[in-house]
Amino acid sequence: MFPLDQTPKISINYHTRKLIFISLNAHNLVIFAPLNFEKMTQSILVIGASGQIGTELTLKLRQLYGNEHVIASDIRNGNYDVMESGPFEILDVTKKEDISRVVDKYAVKQVYLMAAMLSAIAEKRPQNAWDLNMNSLLNVLDIAKEKQIQKIFWPSSIAVFGPSSPKQNAPQKTILEPSTVYGISKLAGESWCAYYQNKYGVDVRSIRYPGIISYKTNPGGGTTDYAVEIFYAALKRKSYTSFLNKDSYLPMMYMDDAIEATIQLMEHEKFEDFTAYNLSAISFSPKEIAKSIQKYIPEFTLKYKLDSRQKIADSWPQSIDDSSARNDWNWKHKFELDDLVKAMLKGLHFPIS
Ligand code: NAD
Repeated sequence: MFPLDQTPKISINYHTRKLIFISLNAHNLVIFAPLNFEKMTQSILVIGASGQIGTELTLKLRQLYGNEHVIASDIRNGNYDVMESGPFEILDVTKKEDISRVVDKYAVKQVYLMAAMLSAIAEKRPQNAWDLNMNSLLNVLDIAKEKQIQKIFWPSSIAVFGPSSPKQNAPQKTILEPSTVYGISKLAGESWCAYYQNKYGVDVRSIRYPGIISYKTNPGGGTTDYAVEIFYAALKRKSYTSFLNKDSYLPMMYMDDAIEATIQLMEHEKFEDFTAYNLSAISFSPKEIAKSIQKYIPEFTLKYKLDSRQKIADSWPQSIDDSSARNDWNWKHKFELDDLVKAMLKGLHFPIS
């Protein structure tokens, strides 16, 4: 034992995962003890870390909180950066015991639940979409109710709005009658979050993401995917055939803004009531984004061949009012349309200053 008047100096070797005590007495005693490293710190679990948003969210969280403290998980492997930069676990979010195993193993205190089936694919597989989108959320909410975790982020979507919602500046509180399976699952999810927060005190936070534009991971089958595909096609073929018509305006956002908003919301002190915040940055149509791309690639042309996704897009608002997010937690977007186009082209190695 250490004499009472001497405080031992404690240090941790992160590579060998051994705890090292160095006493301050004359003998400089050094003790190596095996350490369950994961249990010592509060970890963050990202579920759906191999997806479009989960990939970049994981990397940003690791940069902020340390690689060891951010556990990536998915039903499939992620990209090289996610797999190599920190812990990764294969898990099926529809199985509560899978999530509990990882939560327990790493002493997880926060979960970002990014696994879901997106709008266009969900219309083709409604039952699967409902099962995945609902069971994943209920599993994580239950684990929080049982006090194993302290905070949850669960993304909603502009898909909660439907044909009867206002088309312009759709407010935070308005008529919500979604006409897609995906939208129905997101609206039900919002209600479940509010229920668990009110009834069991679960701390759950949410954003109604608009279409997210990024280049590091392919999008997962949503209605706004055209706004990512268009960049690959512009660089490869100088031409793109859009599945949405030229004047289909939809709310959109560059990935960096979405990640910043997500972490900012999670770092905010606890909110009294649950809100799935409207989040807005820019709104554009296929014609408008094509015009912006033509500033850098003048020969780029856009054609149209509409498919079933047009109907989904028509059911959503063209722009949304996010003043609650701006007032309640000081949300501000950084990327306007031209910034987004430049960031995408640069990210895809197009020479641009
Ligand atoms: P994505 O489809 O790119 O990624 C979802 C990930 O979940 C995939 O990596 C998939 O393998 C994983 N997954 C699927 N089933 C699983 C299971 N049973 N267990 C564990 N993992 C499983 O989706 P995304 O675009 O990254 O979206 C993340 C979240 O944001 C979703 O809730 C989505 O609804 C929401 N959102 C996204 C957008 C957007 O534009 N990308 C817009 C609005 C809302």
